Amino acid sequence: MTKEPNLADHHPGVRSAFEHVVRRNPDEPEFQQAVLEVLESLSPALNTHPEYAAQRVLERLCEPERQIIFRVPWRDDQGGVHVNRGFRVEFNSALGPYKGGLRFHPSVNLGVIKFLGFEQIFKNALTGMGIGGGKGGSDFDPKGRSDAEIERFCQSFMTELHRHLGEYTDIPAGDIGVGGREIGYMFGQYRRLSNRWEAGVITGKGLDWGGSRVRTEATGYGAVMFTERMLERNGRDLDGMRVVVSGSGNVAIYAVEKAQQLGAHVVACSDSGGYVVDERGLDLDLLKEIKEVERARISAYADRRKGAEYVAGGNVWDVPCQVALPSATQNELDAASAKRLVGNGVVAVAEGANMPTTPDAVKVLREAGVLFAPGKAANAGGVATSVLEMRQNARRTSWSFEHAESELAETMAGIHDRCEAAAERHGARGDYVLGANVAGFEMVADAMLAQGLI
Ligand code: GLU
Repeated sequence: MTKEPNLADHHPGVRSAFEHVVRRNPDEPEFQQAVLEVLESLSPALNTHPEYAAQRVLERLCEPERQIIFRVPWRDDQGGVHVNRGFRVEFNSALGPYKGGLRFHPSVNLGVIKFLGFEQIFKNALTGMGIGGGKGGSDFDPKGRSDAEIERFCQSFMTELHRHLGEYTDIPAGDIGVGGREIGYMFGQYRRLSNRWEAGVITGKGLDWGGSRVRTEATGYGAVMFTERMLERNGRDLDGMRVVVSGSGNVAIYAVEKAQQLGAHVVACSDSGGYVVDERGLDLDLLKEIKEVERARISAYADRRKGAEYVAGGNVWDVPCQVALPSATQNELDAASAKRLVGNGVVAVAEGANMPTTPDAVKVLREAGVLFAPGKAANAGGVATSVLEMRQNARRTSWSFEHAESELAETMAGIHDRCEAAAERHGARGDYVLGANVAGFEMVADAMLAQGLI
C-alpha cells in the first residue's frame, strides 16, 4: 500500500485481518488494496455476527484455497523461444466451482491475479447463481503478435492449465487480452487433452460451438443496466445524459452500445495511448470495425471520423460528462481525475472494469454525493451471462438474444437490489460500496461457516 490505512474506528477483527494480509502478502499492492476496500465495509457485519470474527472467517477468506503458477513456453514466428508465467488462483469455492476470467497482459503478476480473484468471490456471490471465485492469466503481451503466435501461446497455456479445470471444478473465461479467438484456441486444446466435449468447462465460446448470445455484450450492457437502475432510484435516467467511457475493449464497446440504446450521448472513449472525443456522439460501427476487426489503436477513429479529435497521452476524464463509466483497467481513475469529474458536474460513476477507481478517488466521489457503483456489482453481468452459457450447455439448448438479454437484465436488477437492501439494512442508504461488500461477504461467510472449518 502507498499509505498506512487508518482502521482505528473499525472492528478489531477487521484490523487484525488486514494486518495478517499485509504481513503475508508483501509487495502485492493491488491485492492489499482490494482486501482493504472490502474489509472497510465489514465492521457492521462483524458487530452483528460475532461468529465471523470468532471463527476467523476474514483471515480464511483472504487466503486463496489454491494458487497455481506454471511455465508457459512458446515459439514465435521466427522460431525464437519465449517463456511466460501462467497463473490460476482458485480463491474460494464455498458457493460453487471456481469461476473467473483469464487475463493476458504484461502487467499480470500473482498480486494482480489475487486482487482479481478476491473481487470475483464477492461479485460471483452477488449474482446469486452459485459460483465460487477464481482468476488466472499470464504476463504474455498479445499486442503485435500474429494469429499463429496467439494460437501457440494459448495451446501451451492450456496444456498445463487443463489438469486443474472441469465444469464442476474451475471454469475460466475471458478478461483483458482474452476474447473469443483465445477462448477458441484454449477450448480446442482442452478437448484434445481431455478427450471430452465438456462445453461447461469454459465460457465465452463461439455461438456455433456452445457459446451464449449476449455473452460478448454482457459486461458492458450489464454495467449500463445497473447504472440506469441506480439513476432511476434517484429520479433520473440515462436518456439525454452525456456519457464518457474509458477504454475501448470488450467492456467499453458494449457499454457504449447499451448507453446509446437508452438515449445517452456518448462522447469519448480511450486506449492506453490517449482518448478520442466526438461531440456528435461516438460512431459505434466505426469503433467496432477499428477495435474488433482491425485490432487497431483508437487514434485510427479520429483519422476516419470528421469532427472527432484524438488527444495523444491525454486523460479521458478531462472530458466533461454527467455519467462516467471507467471500463479500461485497475486504478485508471485517480483523485485528481475524480475532482475534475465532480467539477464538471458528474452525477454517477459506475465501474465497468475491475477496481478502476483508486480509493482516494472513490472518497472524492462519495463526499461530493456522486452515485458510485463498484465493479463487483456493476460489472457482474459478464460472469452472470457466463452462468447463463453454462445453463444452456447443461441443457443442450440455445436461447435467443432477447431471452438471454432479459435474463441478464433480471440478474442485474437483482444484484442492484441486493446491494441496495444490504446498505439499507446497515443504515447506509445509497452506499453501493458497503452494500455490495456486505451482501457478497455475508453469503460467502455463511456458506463457509455452515461447511465446517474450510
Ligand atoms: N473476466 C470477467 C470478470 O471480471 C468475466 C469472468 C467470467 O465470465 O467468468 O468478471
